[in-house]
Amino acid sequence: MELRPPSVRALLDELEQLPGIGPRTATRLVQHLLRGRASTERLAGALANAVATVRPCGTCYLLAEEDPCPVCRDTGRDRGVVCVVEDPLNAWAIEATGEFGGLYHALGGALDPLHGVGPDELTVGALLARVQEGAVREIILATNPTVEGEATAHYLAQRLRSCGVTISRIAFGLPAGGEISYADAVTLARAISGRRGID
Ligand SMILES: [Zn+2]
Repeated sequence: MELRPPSVRALLDELEQLPGIGPRTATRLVQHLLRGRASTERLAGALANAVATVRPCGTCYLLAEEDPCPVCRDTGRDRGVVCVVEDPLNAWAIEATGEFGGLYHALGGALDPLHGVGPDELTVGALLARVQEGAVREIILATNPTVEGEATAHYLAQRLRSCGVTISRIAFGLPAGGEISYADAVTLARAISGRRGID
């Protein structure tokens, strides 16, 4: 006999669609969610509110409740420098360092031809249009240090070369406290090629 009510089964189905959530985790989450009624109602409200109000900025594609987003509207930022990231969450991490005062551009992923992701599936055209408007003097390519991220950075560097802007790639090092043998090949190669003298 199926003991799980239909509404619970529907909830399990939805949770199992989320990245990293398998049937066991989904069951544990449902158990937890249905135990704390007030906090779960707050969670449902926060989720509905975010879905209703958050949109990609029409200029930089960061997630925001206004368009243009607060970063694009901020006249105190350096509008000549654009940091290109794969996803908004990468921009959140960069912004949290407090080291960057320019604008962003979220691609919506990385080039992945084997899975059908080409330039047209990303916001590459919008990035090129932004650069061609003329206010941008420097592009920082901050795609992830993965095979796809590296390929995307190389592709963008080629496309942007004729636009007369300075193009740079952020330098990746080994994670602090990490071990060389545990680093993936791409990270390690970059750490070696980006090596500096030591005094
Ligand atoms: Zn924006």
